[in-house]
Amino acid sequence: MFYDLHIHSCLSPCAEDEMTPNNICNMAVLKGLNLIAVCDHNSTRQLDAVSAAAELAGIRFLFGCELQSIEEVHVLGLFNSSAKAHQIQQWIDSRMPDIPNREDFFGKEQLLNSQDEVIGSESRLLLVSLNASLSECVDEIHACGGRAVLAHVLDRKNSVTTQLGFIPMDLAYDGLEVKSDLQKQEVLMTHPWIHAEDTVWFNDSDAHRLVDIAEAEHDMSEETYQRLWGDTA
Ligand SMILES: [Zn+2]
Ligand SMILES: [Zn+2]
Repeated sequence: MFYDLHIHSCLSPCAEDEMTPNNICNMAVLKGLNLIAVCDHNSTRQLDAVSAAAELAGIRFLFGCELQSIEEVHVLGLFNSSAKAHQIQQWIDSRMPDIPNREDFFGKEQLLNSQDEVIGSESRLLLVSLNASLSECVDEIHACGGRAVLAHVLDRKNSVTTQLGFIPMDLAYDGLEVKSDLQKQEVLMTHPWIHAEDTVWFNDSDAHRLVDIAEAEHDMSEETYQRLWGDTA
């Protein structure tokens, strides 16, 4: 399965308006992807619309979000049902500071329906740190039946390595997101306690524009997919 599990919709203020549910799914089909997830910053509210668009486009969809911990680390939560995504939304709402978004400065946070019609917007700024540590975020993702993937682990901004210095040995994550094989080798070299075979590696686009959605380059085997979800399907 060719995948891209880190795509932003137009609900994320930093993403382009063109990132509508149907545009995302149609572009994913054009690129030859079989499985996608949308991970907006600190929100799951666009996901039901994208899920409906994905079904129409005939691709598999996971419900995601990109949480920002109090240490300003980005971690993806991936869920295999709408109900689980709704569950973590309640927790996000209880941990998110109530700072109004400034559209002119940060960008729009638009909510669309499955026909790409604007039905509302998020009034709070989503680009904020939740009032929760990284390990609390991981624990809550698990409590809601999700899988936690440390996002862009070697990036210069908002990664576990820039914010904490390294990937903690005792953090109960389910996968690591890297941008290349070279980055994977670097993670392994600098973290002797991480074993290549025991780790689920993700190579996603983190697309904020349609053109940046991944090509059909990264293949996830059905075995890995099952290993990730185990008996929770
Ligand atoms: Zn990020
Ligand atoms: Zn992102």
